Amino acid sequence: MFNELKEEILKCRLCEGKFGFEPHPIIMGNPNSKIMQISQAPSQNVHKTLKPFDDASGRKLRNEWYCISDETFYNPDNFYIAAIAHCYPGKSSNGGDRLPPKMCARKWLLKEIDCVNNEIFILLGGKSADFFFPKHDFTSLIFKDNTINGKPAYVLPHPSPLNAKWFKDNPQFLESRIYKIREAIHEVLKI
Ligand code: SF4
Repeated sequence: MFNELKEEILKCRLCEGKFGFEPHPIIMGNPNSKIMQISQAPSQNVHKTLKPFDDASGRKLRNEWYCISDETFYNPDNFYIAAIAHCYPGKSSNGGDRLPPKMCARKWLLKEIDCVNNEIFILLGGKSADFFFPKHDFTSLIFKDNTINGKPAYVLPHPSPLNAKWFKDNPQFLESRIYKIREAIHEVLKI
């Protein structure tokens, strides 16, 4: 069932008209990945390299927040790397990336969640948190222990340097909250 779903997602071109270029769906993981990490959408760089989180934000996430090696992060038995949209959505008129089409999450991500036997979820960034916890305050979700389908779900801010103000306003994230989330990740990975 998972393999059929993966094939269907990789062939998906539903947003081609909206994006104005050929979508490149990204999937990394397997049905027994221990952690499902769900972010917003692949970046323009990932659209080209097809390797998620292969940038400064990804290095910060792995090395400083999770404190794990690249090898551990990219091991599909450990992480299922998903997003609200599987494809880079292109640039908006203000120069930032377009919002991820939620239709992708409704069509594919919910099925992936049914197929993958992960132990915990990590939701990365506001768009991902909002999809699962609509109308909830993003910062409050970060400091709470949430659940999705009865499994622990930790919400993280995006590690991008563009988020500098949020980190300045919420120093307790790096001072304490990240330690609890890292502990949960290490426990699941048995490291
Ligand atoms: S973003 Fe999702 S729905 Fe749109 S083309 Fe990519 S895989 Fe298909």
